[in-house]
Amino acid sequence: MKFADLGLSDELMRAIDDAGYESPTPIQAEAIPQVQMMRDLIAVAQTGTGKTASFVLPMIDILASGRRRARMPRSLILEPTRELAAQVAENFEKYGKNHDLKLALLIGGVQMGDQVKALDEGVDVLIATPGRLMDLFQRGKILLTGCELLVIDEADRMLDMGFIPDIEEICSKLPENRQTLLFSATMPGPIKKLADKFLSNPKHIQV
Ligand code: AMP
Repeated sequence: MKFADLGLSDELMRAIDDAGYESPTPIQAEAIPQVQMMRDLIAVAQTGTGKTASFVLPMIDILASGRRRARMPRSLILEPTRELAAQVAENFEKYGKNHDLKLALLIGGVQMGDQVKALDEGVDVLIATPGRLMDLFQRGKILLTGCELLVIDEADRMLDMGFIPDIEEICSKLPENRQTLLFSATMPGPIKKLADKFLSNPKHIQV
């Protein structure tokens, strides 16, 4: 499998070339077509497998068309820690450098004023930790009704950190006809339950 077989945009192919990647990793080869087909996905994969690019790359092409609206992020990526959220944001910037996409990082320890300003200007991708997202949501600074693509990354770490109730609440605020992608290194019972409740007819991938 080559990147050229995946039907990614020329802009994205240039960014992949610049990153020096020769071919997609197994998770990328399996996940990217599913994301492009707008299917829900459960991917059991460890860090280091290239899993971040497996959702960031197709998301960039999906988000390349469409319009930004104030306070209504078009997609949402949930991460368990600030560090992981910041890493995913860096990936978006690296692969999306030839696209006009706006991202906002919503993590604790950062001035809320700047985050609110970014949201007001409209964002394509909101990358957040669940606690800070719920905080801003409860203050009325974010509307989740326009968010048609959700990624729950590192779901088993979310469980360890006690974030499942927050994630359930966030999922219940998103439109029902969204696309949901769940990534986890392991699939403990509570994560299976979460997936049963909030994903619809997901494709399962294990690498
Ligand atoms: P991740 O599993 O998402 O944390 O990615 C692990 C590392 O693999 C990161 O440093 C990526 O830059 C790198 N990577 C991702 N996709 C590829 C690829 N197709 N070829 C080579 N390296 C890659």
